[in-house]
Amino acid sequence: GKSLKIGMIPADGIGREVLPGAKAAIQALGSSIPTTEFIDLQAGFECFQKTGTALPDETVEVLKNECDCALFGAVSSPSRKVFGYSSPIVALRKKMDLYANIRPVSSVAPIPNEQPTIDLVVVRENTECLGFSISKKKHRLLGKGAPKARATRLITEYASRRIGEMAFKIALTRPRKHVTIIHKSNVLSVTDGLFRETVRGVPTLPGMNGKYDGVTVAEQLVDSAVYRLFREPHIYDVMVAPNLYGDIISDAAAALVGSLGLVPSVNAGDSFVMGEPVHGSAPDIAGKDIANPLAAIRSAALMLRQLGYRNGAARIESAVDDVIREGRYLTPDLGGKSSTSEVVSQVVKRI
Ligand code: NAD
Ligand code: MN
Repeated sequence: GKSLKIGMIPADGIGREVLPGAKAAIQALGSSIPTTEFIDLQAGFECFQKTGTALPDETVEVLKNECDCALFGAVSSPSRKVFGYSSPIVALRKKMDLYANIRPVSSVAPIPNEQPTIDLVVVRENTECLGFSISKKKHRLLGKGAPKARATRLITEYASRRIGEMAFKIALTRPRKHVTIIHKSNVLSVTDGLFRETVRGVPTLPGMNGKYDGVTVAEQLVDSAVYRLFREPHIYDVMVAPNLYGDIISDAAAALVGSLGLVPSVNAGDSFVMGEPVHGSAPDIAGKDIANPLAAIRSAALMLRQLGYRNGAARIESAVDDVIREGRYLTPDLGGKSSTSEVVSQVVKRI
């Protein structure tokens, strides 16, 4: 039948080292999924330095017109302002309307330093919230001409509703069916208040017809949510959050399961899906063949699951779980001595 075309965007740093593992895992599935075709695409800071753009038009066009799905590695975004540069991953999520970033975090015993069982999913709004503008006008505290920066934060009912619906839909598929809304509406009453109320209101929207009756809802201020995440992570099931909080919470949750190198994600819209490990380009370990490829491999599985290839996804996921449980082939972030490529071949062997 039809082949599955997968856009591959390794981008920068360890993104280039972990994405081949995701490809190898998919290829190991053989005929249990349609014939796959991988299309290599450019993006990232290195791409910006070479070509003057971090996200070439061609990349977006090929994704839109030729690909069924995509895998993204990681991008190195400088912390200072670089003229003409903006993050390609943020742009890609917006251009492809991948409005939800779904980040499951769960523990597979035994991992050193692990807390009690964690099985949660962060559902991060992906298209708004972040944004900035800079002003050098007079400031009451700094005086005339002193630099002043102002960040603007946009929350809309539209985006809050669709991420809320996504969170409730995901909750229905999980045993505990529990949604926690993360916000800071005691301080940001206008923006976060809108997010909180809109998400809370999803089950009572016209047309829902009691669909989410079995789902329980709680809410938590983002700061105390981080605290409770560390103290009693088991209270969480689905955590739905505006963009920035979702980003922060999922890195925190990653610490609880042993490493950022284990946590996958999928960027999902209504018609396209892009897998992406939660971690960044990790310049501190790039180029050494020691990056943990499991987050990227799990992202490939999530992408396949989202496309409806549940068996393929499950085979990859259980191979990864087996490697973690056995504990013989782990990268240094998990206390092991294995290389990236060694871990990949062990996963492939078990698929
Ligand atoms: P990071 O996620 O790259 O790294 C944080 C820490 O976790 C580092 O010590 C790193 O070595 C470790 N780590 C991350 N992934 C790992 C893996 N697979 N295996 C083993 N260890 C791993 O975050 P950072 O260092 O704050 O950011 C580095 C760069 O990545 C920055 O330029 C940042 O803008 C970018 N970034 C990109 C994305 C993305 O592409 N979506 C996300 C986060 C950060
Ligand atoms: Mn992040």
